[in-house]
Amino acid sequence: MATGNAIRGTRVGSGPMGESERGESAARVVVSFWCSNGHETRPSFAHDAELPGTWDCPRCGLPANTDMKNPPPARRTEPYKTHLAYVKERRSDADGEALLEEALAKLRARRGEN
Ligand SMILES: [Zn+2]
Repeated sequence: MATGNAIRGTRVGSGPMGESERGESAARVVVSFWCSNGHETRPSFAHDAELPGTWDCPRCGLPANTDMKNPPPARRTEPYKTHLAYVKERRSDADGEALLEEALAKLRARRGEN
């Protein structure tokens, strides 16, 4: 009897994916996604899983997202990505210009002083 308890205790307690994992996988989050055709899809995710930004609509295959009023466009263009790239490009240009101006100003100041 003592041996039986020991084995049982070891089994439950020793596995790093024991009780806690069972508890986590039981908790699921249902998220609604809408495509531009107005189809609602409600896949469920583990509560600690990273939610995807878009989900392919199982009915029409269009990309869907969680914003019902602003579903992703039907075509495979990604305006958000383009916008980000645009901002990034602009920012790096501005940074480059600022750095150049700063360097020039320092050079001028140095030459003026010496
Ligand atoms: Zn759809």
